[in-house]
Amino acid sequence: MPDYLDRDDLTTIVPDVLAKQPVTDMHTHCYPPTFGDSSDGSGEGLLLWGIDELVTYHYLIAEVYRVVPESELPIDKFWAMTKAQQADHIWKNLFVERTPIGEACRGVLTTLHKLGLDPNEKTLDNYRKWFAQQTADQYIDRVMELANVDSITMTNPVFDDPERLMWEKNQKVGDDPRFEAVLRIDPLLRDWPGAVAKMSAWGYDVSVEFTQKTIDETKRFLNHWLDYMNAIYVAMSLPPEFRYPSDSDLAGNRFVSDILMPVLAERGLPFAMMIGCHQQVKPELRDAGDMVGKSDVQSVVSLCREFPKNKFFITMLSRENQHELCVAARKFGNLMLFGCWWFLNNPSIIEEMTRERLELLGTSFIPQHSDARVLDQLVYKWDHSRRIIGEVLIDKYNDLITAGYRVQRDHIERDARLMLRDNFRDFCKR
Ligand SMILES: [Zn+2]
Repeated sequence: MPDYLDRDDLTTIVPDVLAKQPVTDMHTHCYPPTFGDSSDGSGEGLLLWGIDELVTYHYLIAEVYRVVPESELPIDKFWAMTKAQQADHIWKNLFVERTPIGEACRGVLTTLHKLGLDPNEKTLDNYRKWFAQQTADQYIDRVMELANVDSITMTNPVFDDPERLMWEKNQKVGDDPRFEAVLRIDPLLRDWPGAVAKMSAWGYDVSVEFTQKTIDETKRFLNHWLDYMNAIYVAMSLPPEFRYPSDSDLAGNRFVSDILMPVLAERGLPFAMMIGCHQQVKPELRDAGDMVGKSDVQSVVSLCREFPKNKFFITMLSRENQHELCVAARKFGNLMLFGCWWFLNNPSIIEEMTRERLELLGTSFIPQHSDARVLDQLVYKWDHSRRIIGEVLIDKYNDLITAGYRVQRDHIERDARLMLRDNFRDFCKR
C-alpha cells in the first residue's frame, strides 16, 4: 500500500528529497586542478577557489562601486591593488560596514557557513588561514559533497589563448572524472573575420568568403576540438541583437546553417545558446561591466523549426523573455530551457521562473545551473536554488492534492531526478 502524503508531510519530504538528489551542474566556469590553481600565486591558474576569489567575484566588484564612489577609489587604482587588498576593501565595505543583504553577498555568507566557518568575522584573516590548509584537489571533493553535485560541466573557450594552450600542452588536462568539457566558440558567430584569422594561423585553410573549402575546413576544426576535448555540447554566449535568420551579418547565418548544424546533427550533440548579454557597457569594470538586454525568441523558434535534427539548450538573460520562451518550448521537443542566468539568479526571479516553467512545461526543463566561476560558489548556488525549487514544488503538490491526486514520495523523487539531473542527461543522449 503506497504511502500518500498530506500537506504537512510535503514541507519536510520535499526539501529532504531535493537535498538528497545529486545535481549534474550543466554550466559552470570551474576547472579541475590540472588547469592550474589560482591559489599558487602564479596568476595563471584557471581553477578559482578560496576566500579572496569568492569576495572579489565580479558581482561584488560592481556592488562595491555602488557604495564607494569612483571619486574615492578610481577604478584603475582598484585594479592596481593585489587580490587580497581588493578582497579586504570589498569585505570592509559590503560585509562589515553594510548589511550583506544582496544575493551575491548572501551567497558568500552561506558558503562560509556551510563550510563550518563563522560568517561574522570583521576581517578575512581567519578565513585565509583556513583556506591555506586546504588542497585544491581535496577541496573540490568537499565542495561537491556539500553542494551534492555529481558532475561539474566546464566551459572551454577554444579561442581564448590561456585555455587553448592548456589543452594543447596536454590533452589529458580534461580527464578528471569530476568534470566534463564543453566546446565554446563565440567568435565563430560574433566575429567571423577574427575567427578566420585565428583558424588560419592554426593551420586551417579558411577564408572570410564562404567557400566550400572554408566550410569543410571549419567543420574539420570543430570536429577536431569536439573529439580532442570529448565535449558533451557546444556553447555560445550571444548579444540581445542576435537574429536568425539575419541578412545583416557577414557569416553568422551561414556558419550556423552550413557548418555548425550539420556537424552537431551528425554527432547528436546539443547547441547551447545563452542570449542577452550586452558586453562591456562599462569596460573599466572588466567582467563586472556587462549589461542585460531583451532578446529575440522568434530567432530561437526559427532555428528549432529549420533544424529539427538539432537540439538546442537555451537560456536568456532578460526576465521579459521568459514567458515567450516557455511558449516556444511547448512547440519544439528539440528545445530545452535551462537555468536562471546571472542577473536572474535571485530568489524572487528564480521562484517566478520556476513557477512559470512548471505551469507551462511540467517537469520538462532544467530549472538551474550554477554558472559558478569560483568553485566555492557551487555550495551556495545549489543550497539557495534547491530551497526555492522546493518551495514552488510544495505549492504545486498541494494543488494536486486539492485536485484529488494522491502524491507519493516516489513522485517527488522522480521529479527531482528529472529536474536536477536526468532532463539534462537524457536530452544530451536523445
Ligand atoms: Zn556562464
